[in-house]
Amino acid sequence: MVEAMFNAVIRRKLNSASNGALTILQYHKVPLCAPKYIEGEVLASDFSWGLEQFKEWFNFLPLEEAIHRLKSHDLPPRSAVLSFDDGYADWFDHVVPALLAHKVPATFFVTSAQLNCSKPFWHERVAVALAKRGVDRLPHGFNFATGTGAEIGLAQTIIAVQNQLKYLPLAEREAAIAVLEADLPLSGDYRPFRSADLIRLRDAGFQIGGHSRHHPILTSCDATQAKDEIGGCKEELEGILREPVTAFAYPNGRPDCDFNASHVALVEAVGYRYAVTTAPGVSRSDTDLFQLPRFTPWARSSWRSALQFLRNMRVSPQMVKV
Ligand SMILES: [Zn+2]
Repeated sequence: MVEAMFNAVIRRKLNSASNGALTILQYHKVPLCAPKYIEGEVLASDFSWGLEQFKEWFNFLPLEEAIHRLKSHDLPPRSAVLSFDDGYADWFDHVVPALLAHKVPATFFVTSAQLNCSKPFWHERVAVALAKRGVDRLPHGFNFATGTGAEIGLAQTIIAVQNQLKYLPLAEREAAIAVLEADLPLSGDYRPFRSADLIRLRDAGFQIGGHSRHHPILTSCDATQAKDEIGGCKEELEGILREPVTAFAYPNGRPDCDFNASHVALVEAVGYRYAVTTAPGVSRSDTDLFQLPRFTPWARSSWRSALQFLRNMRVSPQMVKV
């Protein structure tokens, strides 16, 4: 009873705050559990709780339909879209079953060169290598972190090293990870995200979008490489799916920092029809279709989540000037 009243109040607040606005949520792996040294992951239990709660407040639409209705001033009140980035086999454990059970549509943005790859994503390799090595056995040049205590020290070191390597050109990033992984035993429990998984997702009714080939920071790429990352990803995904891939998510996604106007132009030139960023805020009818903002609700209580959504609706999203 109290819960129903609370949800009715939140719906009324969102109705007035979200008038004509589209909220796009962004998630990543959504693992069942994560080691203590990995910070900031939305876990499967948080996601399942969030999905049940957010369904009470929002009307979830497929991205394509939401954009069409946004532009034709026909967006239902409290419209939202779910999106997931990168490409993880873990999605099939909890995310996909939950979405199917609740009949909620979603878009999955996939890093195409990572498909069928025997190694995890670069940032996960960094985390695993540092955890195996320990903060007191880092190779020369990798000790960026501050902090005390083994767990805190390790978690902070992982974030510091990831942030340091993120902006390196791809070849240099790979060489640095090879140094971190040298002499360490390989983990045998990695499940790659495969081409067959991509088809499975599409056949279950979900949209597949591009997320570059290797997940570089586009501003760290030269023009040829950026085109290969953006256009090559589209070609690879379309080769598997045998249908047009129309949506793109910029890797890391922060306007001006991770991509610039030349990349926005490239995304359009190679044939995507719209793209999402990681700038917080909501989309309105005049929002650039190639810079749609997204945000991740990370709170674990209803009223905190509601406040986050309401606050996000007041944010003016950062955009690259085109
Ligand atoms: Zn990503």
